[in-house]
Amino acid sequence: MSEALIIAGPCAAESREQLLQTATQLADAGVGVFRAGVWKPRTEPDAFEGVGEEALSWLAEAQQLTSIPAATEVATPEHVRLALKHGIRILWLGARTTTNPFLVQQIADSLTQEANTLTVLVKNPVSPDLKLWKGAIERIRKAGVKQIYAVHRGFQTGQPSPYRNAPVWSVPFALKLAVPDIPLILDPSHMSGDAALVPDLSRKAMTLGYDGLMIEAHCNPQAAKSDNKQQLTTDQLKQLISSLPCRKSSSSSKMENVTEKQTETYDTLSLLRQQLDETDDTLFLLLLQRMQISKQIGVFKRQHNLPVLQEKRYAELLAKRLAWAEQHELDEEIIRRILDAIHEESCRWQL
Ligand code: PEP
Ligand code: MN
Repeated sequence: MSEALIIAGPCAAESREQLLQTATQLADAGVGVFRAGVWKPRTEPDAFEGVGEEALSWLAEAQQLTSIPAATEVATPEHVRLALKHGIRILWLGARTTTNPFLVQQIADSLTQEANTLTVLVKNPVSPDLKLWKGAIERIRKAGVKQIYAVHRGFQTGQPSPYRNAPVWSVPFALKLAVPDIPLILDPSHMSGDAALVPDLSRKAMTLGYDGLMIEAHCNPQAAKSDNKQQLTTDQLKQLISSLPCRKSSSSSKMENVTEKQTETYDTLSLLRQQLDETDDTLFLLLLQRMQISKQIGVFKRQHNLPVLQEKRYAELLAKRLAWAEQHELDEEIIRRILDAIHEESCRWQL
């Protein structure tokens, strides 16, 4: 069993029966928070937009029945008011809401009176904008909320990705550095958009040191009115939870009671990190060396009236490295981006 916080439940509350059935099936699964959307922000106007206030009473019933606290998405101060009225004290801001500072501020203002006793989860904004995500967290914090979690559900980058929303891991890592006391949760369901990819992403998050997971699970995913491809069955979720690598959270707040065995683990980790730093030193020195050679090439080209950009040469170079990347199971797209960046800088040195 993992020590990570598991938030799970259906994408949306669809009916009293569906919600209570899912909740009772998950009651003994090790779920720390039961989730269900009551108002669904939908990209297309005719999609299922949630049941609204009526579903809050089902959610309250599920909470009572299982003794697992329930969470729902809020996108307006009115949603906050209604959720609190029904005793739902864990609220999340969806990706589309975090994107809009006006809305985030209005929601933050509506939390102030009860801030002390609420938990707020802030999903990343739609685009990979660290400041927007951090800004939303700060607005909620300034409202007096003490229990805040960041939820990483991936980004729309316009670049090809095996997932519905690209992870862009550097953004949550930078967030962790900027606000180290805010626990970081991965939402592999909205990130992947595909139930088959959820287990691997979940295990990856645990290995990377995430503090928990938010996973969509439904008593009958095929019949789900929203996100039906990405929801796990409750049995699949139970299986996944029991297969997660046991780990200690990386949150500084939870770091205090480190056992001897874990101290050993952290020592090994610091050694590996040292090796990583040394490898980076070499890597960047080699990069400098490469630029210095480019500079000499630049001088030569100028003397002989040759253009800096020679497309055929670059295409050959790229093809060679991509073939090499494939041989070594490196992601071709990443290698292409690295080479493009190196080539761009190289052209600058030649000029
Ligand atoms: C959700 O959690 O159901 C949801 C709509 O998520 P997101 O805001 O990440 O799209
Ligand atoms: Mn969903």
